[in-house]
Amino acid sequence: MLKQRVEELTKLLNQYNTEYYVFDNPSVSDREYDRLLQELIEIEQKNPELKTPTSPTVRVGGAVLEGFDKVLHTNPMLSLGNAFNEGDLREFDSRIRKVTPNINYVCELKIDGLAVTLHYENGQFVRGATRGDGTTGEDISENLKTIRAIPLTIPYSDLLEVRGEAYMSKETLEKLNKRRAQNGEELFANPRNAAAGSLRQLDSKVTSKRELSMFCYAVPSAKQLGCKTHAESLDKIKEMGFNVNPNYEVCQSIDEVLAYIEKWSTMRTELPYEIDGIVIKVNQLDDQEILGNTVKSPRWAIAYKFPAEEVETVLKDIIFTV
Ligand code: NAD
Repeated sequence: MLKQRVEELTKLLNQYNTEYYVFDNPSVSDREYDRLLQELIEIEQKNPELKTPTSPTVRVGGAVLEGFDKVLHTNPMLSLGNAFNEGDLREFDSRIRKVTPNINYVCELKIDGLAVTLHYENGQFVRGATRGDGTTGEDISENLKTIRAIPLTIPYSDLLEVRGEAYMSKETLEKLNKRRAQNGEELFANPRNAAAGSLRQLDSKVTSKRELSMFCYAVPSAKQLGCKTHAESLDKIKEMGFNVNPNYEVCQSIDEVLAYIEKWSTMRTELPYEIDGIVIKVNQLDDQEILGNTVKSPRWAIAYKFPAEEVETVLKDIIFTV
C-alpha cells in the first residue's frame, strides 16, 4: 500500500520535474508540487527501506537540454532545503546551533528566476551555465552575455566563479505575456519559467530582447578572496561590479530572521521583481564548511517559502488583464 503510494508519487514528481526543469512549462502549481514532495519525504523518513537512490527527494533540478554544450560544474550546484513556517525555521536554527553555536545568519530575498553560474579568467567572462542536474549544466554563455547586469570584464585576474539568479522583472514579464497572448502563443506561468525559457534559447538574439537581469549571491571560493563571512563575499563581488541585491541583512538570532521574513512578506509587493521566499544562510564560512552538505542541499542554508496563493494571484492578474 505504502510502496504503491511511493511509486505513484515518484512517477508524478518525475513528470512534474521534467515539465518544469526541461520544458519550462509546469502543469501544476509549485504548492501542489511541494505538497507531494513533502509527502514523499515524510514516507521515506518513517520507512527508509522504501527510499530508492534515484528518488525525486535526492535529485537536484532536471536534465540538460540537447542543443547546448554540457558543462561539468567545478562545485556541485545544489538546491536548498525548504521551510514553510516558524516551526521549521526554529528547528533549522537548533540543528545549526547544536554543531556551530556562535554563528549569525545572512537573510536574502529569494529571487524567482533561474540559478546560473559565471566563470572568469584573467578578468574576462569566459563561460556561464545553468544548474542543470546540479552536476552538469548547459553552456549558455552567449545568452548570458546579452544581460547587461553581468560584467564581461572584472578587476580581478585569478580564476573566479560567481553564482546568482537570472530573472525577469514583473513589468517585462507582463509585457512579454501580453505580446504572447496577442500572437496566440502560450503564456509563461511564472517569472522563473520566463527567465529559463529566455535563457535556454539557441538564438541569443531572442534572449537579448527579453530584458533579463541578474542578482549575484554566491562565490564558491570566497575564502580565497580573503573573506571570512558570506556578507563580506557579497561586498567583495559588489566592488568588482556584480549586481548584488541590496536588501540582504545580517541577523544575530532566529527571532531577527523571523522579523526579516515578516517585513518582506508585506514589502515584496513593492519590489519590481518577484520573490518566492527568503534564503537564510550561515554567515561564517568556516562554520558553513563544518556543517557541510547533503546530496541535495547545504546544511547551512534554508529557503523559507511564502505561501503560494499570493504568487498565483499576481499571475492570474497578469493573465486576465491581457
Ligand atoms: P528552490 O527554488 O527551493 O531553492 C534553490 C534555488 O533558489 C537556487 O537554485 C536558486 O536558483 C534560488 N535562489 C534565489 N535566490 C537565492 C539566493 N538569494 N540565494 C540562494 N539561492 C537563491 O529549489 P529548486 O530545486 O531550484 O526548485 C524547487 C522549486 O521548484 C520548488 O519551489 C518547487 O515547487 C518548484 N518546482 C515546481 C514544479 C512544478 O511542477 N510546479 C516542479 C519542480 C519544481
